[in-house]
Amino acid sequence: MKKENEKKKAATSWNGVKWNAAVVAISGAALLADVCGWNPWGWSGAWVAVVLCGVPILWEAAVGFFGSLNVKTGLLVALALVASLALGETFAAGEVAFIMKLGSLLEEWAVARARSGLETITELTPLTARVVDENGVERNVAAEEVVVGARVRVLPGETIPLDGEIIFGATSVDQSVATGESTPVDKTIGDKTLSGTLNLFGAFDMTVERIAADSSIQRTIRWARSVDVGKTRIVRIADRWATYVVFGALAIALGVWGATGDVARAATVLIVFCPCALTLATPTAVAAAVGAAARRGVLIREGDVFERLATISTVCWDKTGTLTFGKPEVAGVAAFGERDEKEMLTDVAAVERFSEHPLAKAIVRYCRETLAIPSVSVERFVAEPGRGAFGVVDDKEVFVGSARALAERNVAILDEAQTKVERFVKDGCAVVYVAIDVAAAGAIFLSDVERSTSAATIKRLQHIGVRSVMLTGDGEGAAATIAKRLGIDEFAASCLPENKLEEIAKRREAGERVCMVGDGVNDAPALAKATVGVAFGNSCDFAASVADVAVVSGDIKEVASLLALARRTAAVVRFNLAFSLALNFLAVALAACGWLGPTLGALAHNAGSVLVIANSAFLTSWREKV
Ligand code: ADP
Ligand code: MG
Repeated sequence: MKKENEKKKAATSWNGVKWNAAVVAISGAALLADVCGWNPWGWSGAWVAVVLCGVPILWEAAVGFFGSLNVKTGLLVALALVASLALGETFAAGEVAFIMKLGSLLEEWAVARARSGLETITELTPLTARVVDENGVERNVAAEEVVVGARVRVLPGETIPLDGEIIFGATSVDQSVATGESTPVDKTIGDKTLSGTLNLFGAFDMTVERIAADSSIQRTIRWARSVDVGKTRIVRIADRWATYVVFGALAIALGVWGATGDVARAATVLIVFCPCALTLATPTAVAAAVGAAARRGVLIREGDVFERLATISTVCWDKTGTLTFGKPEVAGVAAFGERDEKEMLTDVAAVERFSEHPLAKAIVRYCRETLAIPSVSVERFVAEPGRGAFGVVDDKEVFVGSARALAERNVAILDEAQTKVERFVKDGCAVVYVAIDVAAAGAIFLSDVERSTSAATIKRLQHIGVRSVMLTGDGEGAAATIAKRLGIDEFAASCLPENKLEEIAKRREAGERVCMVGDGVNDAPALAKATVGVAFGNSCDFAASVADVAVVSGDIKEVASLLALARRTAAVVRFNLAFSLALNFLAVALAACGWLGPTLGALAHNAGSVLVIANSAFLTSWREKV
């Protein structure tokens, strides 16, 4: 039932746009007919625009003013409408109403467009379930094809694909999508899971209890909801100054009336004062830019993201999976303790099978495909984002993770072991340590290749004055090597998720405008804290759900392009604002001197709006000059 309602809500937003587009089209045609002097009915076509576009404006202004003493630009428009109608200047009235309606239509369109883009990605990346068969082999299957009774595994940071009951493992789940409660709920064996909710830090197996009729809908709703929030955020410059504009216009109009005794002049002042082009300045540019970005595989969640993006001074990058492919290969294994490598890897693979981390996936692949290590079972698995993963295998406590995490667990790494590690670190390999029963048991070295366009992207950002900083959970050595190769001079290594967050917070407090780009569960807090959070590529659902932008294409160049596009958009908006303000002042002066009548005034007005729309429309075909 709830799902049905949400679906309907999503559909209404497009229907609203279509309905308003029809109103605007009809009004525009009627105005055009009037300009051409074609009126077979014997009354001016402008009345069509007055009724269709003007009446709602009058109504809203009246409700706003008498209801809550709200002085918005709508009030000025309403006054101008009434004044022109009183003077018999129907065309002027119709035209002003038409332009205002066009502005709000474009704004709605931008929001609907952003929303449908997000819907497309949830459709393009259908929800899959990791089905585990009797032999313990995992297979990825579309959620729709999973049968009741199947065993499904859910890893940290993933959307739970189906309704069911947990039969193994423990975790906490963000159920806000389904129930509205925002604190995560702890779940363990015997608890029910809801499709579409977000698994946070644990991993579990569940038995499916209901087949998925429409399992992706919850995810769509999660995206769409946040778009709704954004809708109100496109701040109209004209509205910020509304009170002054309205009173200023009234004062000048009254002054002109008093000085000249000419009502038509005063009315013309009111008409040309209407901030039509000013209202169009931002939404037209943002709508065009959202479209241009979507075509490049970059989805924008809120209209004002562009405003924030344009001011970014620093980009903080996650390393694994963002600057690098996140498809690492095991380059070497070293055992420190009494167990041999294969024995150690058997325990490691048992734990890592439940982790979503790219390093974990590489280790599991290596164990299964290269060494043909059989899978054994694990208990009490916990993922520790940014640190590693823990589990109990055959009564042994196995931890796999970073050097820092080992130190936190009071596991010492002997110097002799350290020398084995050095060589791989120099090559930029990530090092994952293994502790078994609180003793260092060995290390696994993974080489991850940086994306071919990473270095060029960093350089391009430098070129436009944007600093790059790398924040990684990986150790100092590997971080330094990769940073050097990419030409990044600032980096922080051994970052836990909270360190990434603090780094962002610190920079923001120092006045920097920070964009965080990341893909993992460990990046989510930082993404939420940044001025703009960008979920990159095949990011986990958790990261995507807190970010402002999703770079679906997985092309890192798009991050630089996005910043450039945002700056261009801001420039277009600035030009639009300056131009429309100048035009308004000029028109007001001419009207006050009596050189501009109501109809001509309305036309000059119109020309300004058309120019603003055209200027913004150029953004649609924006291409970066490199
Ligand atoms: P990044 O910030 O570069 O994306 P993460 O914060 O995800 O890296 O991980 C930081 C470090 O924590 C890794 O380099 C690794 O040593 C360790 N780690 C995290 N999760 C795991 C895991 N599941 N298995 C092994 N090591 C892990
Ligand atoms: Mg990452």
